[in-house]
Amino acid sequence: MSTEAIIGIVSMAIVAGIVLFVRFYRDRWASWPTLDEYWREHPECKSAGGVKCYRCSSADLAQRGWARNSDARRIHICNQCSTPLYRTAIGDWS
Ligand SMILES: [Zn+2]
Repeated sequence: MSTEAIIGIVSMAIVAGIVLFVRFYRDRWASWPTLDEYWREHPECKSAGGVKCYRCSSADLAQRGWARNSDARRIHICNQCSTPLYRTAIGDWS
């Protein structure tokens, strides 16, 4: 097998790996409920003060970036019991 053929096969494998990786992360992101979906599933968590945790009823929530801290895709987490609750996003990610 020539060097060019090996380089071609390795390049295709790398591209395929990147595509699968991106698809995996996008699908994992979409598996989290949006705020509307969260409220539909846990209507008792909708309060005048905002959103509450469905597990411990705490309204003390934090958010972090999905892939990194500055990510526009945010996961909202209960500060008391550390349960991830729902996702929000700035821009086209929702
Ligand atoms: Zn909680």
